[in-house]
Amino acid sequence: MQAQVVIIGSGPSGLLLGQLLSQAGIDTLILERKSRDYVLGRIRAGVLEQGTVSLLEAAGVADRMHAEGEFHDGIELCFDGTRHRIDLSGLTGGKRVMVYGQTEVTRDLMDARSAAGFKTVYEAEDVQIHDFDSARPRVTYRHQGQNVEVHCDFIAGCDGYHGVCRASVPESALTTYERVYPFGWLGVLSHTPPVSDELIYSNHADGFALCSMRSRTLSRYYIQCSLDDDVAAWSDERFWDALRQRLDPEAAETLVTGPSIEKSIAPLRSFVAEPMRFGRLFLAGDAAHIVPPTGAKGLNLAASDVQYLSEALLRYYGEKDEAGINTYSERCLKRIWKAERFSWWMTSLLHKFPDTGPFGQKIQQAELDYLVRSTAASTALAENYVGLPFDFSD
Ligand SMILES: Cc1cc2nc3c(=O)[nH]c(=O)nc-3n(C[C@H](O)[C@H](O)[C@H](O)COP(=O)(O)OP(=O)(O)OC[C@H]3O[C@@H](n4cnc5c(N)ncnc54)[C@H](O)[C@@H]3O)c2cc1C
Repeated sequence: MQAQVVIIGSGPSGLLLGQLLSQAGIDTLILERKSRDYVLGRIRAGVLEQGTVSLLEAAGVADRMHAEGEFHDGIELCFDGTRHRIDLSGLTGGKRVMVYGQTEVTRDLMDARSAAGFKTVYEAEDVQIHDFDSARPRVTYRHQGQNVEVHCDFIAGCDGYHGVCRASVPESALTTYERVYPFGWLGVLSHTPPVSDELIYSNHADGFALCSMRSRTLSRYYIQCSLDDDVAAWSDERFWDALRQRLDPEAAETLVTGPSIEKSIAPLRSFVAEPMRFGRLFLAGDAAHIVPPTGAKGLNLAASDVQYLSEALLRYYGEKDEAGINTYSERCLKRIWKAERFSWWMTSLLHKFPDTGPFGQKIQQAELDYLVRSTAASTALAENYVGLPFDFSD
């Protein structure tokens, strides 16, 4: 088999890259190790930056997002029992974020891909990449009992943190940076109306809480938990009680609870692998970097990698110009490190850290108070939250 670009992984980065390249006439093949339903069953991100929204529009998959998603002009910070609004839009000259679930973005991209007849192989087993340091890379996999070999020009490693692509790069060619946080997030999805029109980020003596949403009838709530916690030990009732405790009195009073339809614990990690290009292999999205979800950056970073990579490959195929390919890694990493910094900062500001004690809590309180009183500080938060422009560091 032949394809110009073989994309490993059908998460948001693989699907979006596939859509942008395929609609420009580049022959792509996506290989995904799980089934379509499994991928669609994963509950993950829900906040899209303006740049991500524009990219989905350019990919021709934004109709349902505009019909069902919701633009948010602000977020609320809750501490000392009081909520304070950060006017994202007012502080950034009209920029805002779109609340629309990653599951829905994925579904829209999958539907567009199959409607256009572009090829995805789900349940591709034992995907392996070969010869990516040569002019003619190969990818092998097994599907329905058959061994398949695909020759291609480029391989896009969009296969997430646990994928095969980064793992295939010789260790000596990679530098990795990592911080693992000493807590996790216990998340609940429920068919209940959100407690507030905007997201609430809460700093509380018991630990962090986030009130998020996917729609007017679907809420996503998180509380900071211990890494030793077991989901089974968290009944719905226990979760709602703990969440209520961490909110201001008005939100605690108006919170509508209901049965959870998904409940899981996610560890928090910051991770970057450098560089992101190895000959004819490119890494994009979670394959190259992870952020703690506090800044809502994971999916958005995947989208900005795809913006740079699609641009680079279109330039290569259109004009035989390799400049975009050669600068891909550097451009991505400049933006990634800014999002890593912001996500780390939001995490440090809002969580209870076991080792910083009362001094750490006082510093957090002082910083939060400064943040909501100083326009300069609020603006810095707002411009990072809505997302730095794709060409910010160029
Ligand atoms: C539990 C959880 C909660 C999250 N919550 C948030 C959030 O609230 N906000 C936020 O901004 N971000 C969040 N994120 C991060 C966000 O979901 C990711 O940044 C985003 O999914 C990255 O997209 P991706 O396509 O790069 O990787 P992924 O979505 O991980 O997709 C990679 C794909 O590659 C496939 N794959 C892996 N290995 C192979 C292989 N060997 N062969 C073939 N296919 C393979 C996988 O099955 C998967 O479908 C969360 C992530 C997790 C794990």
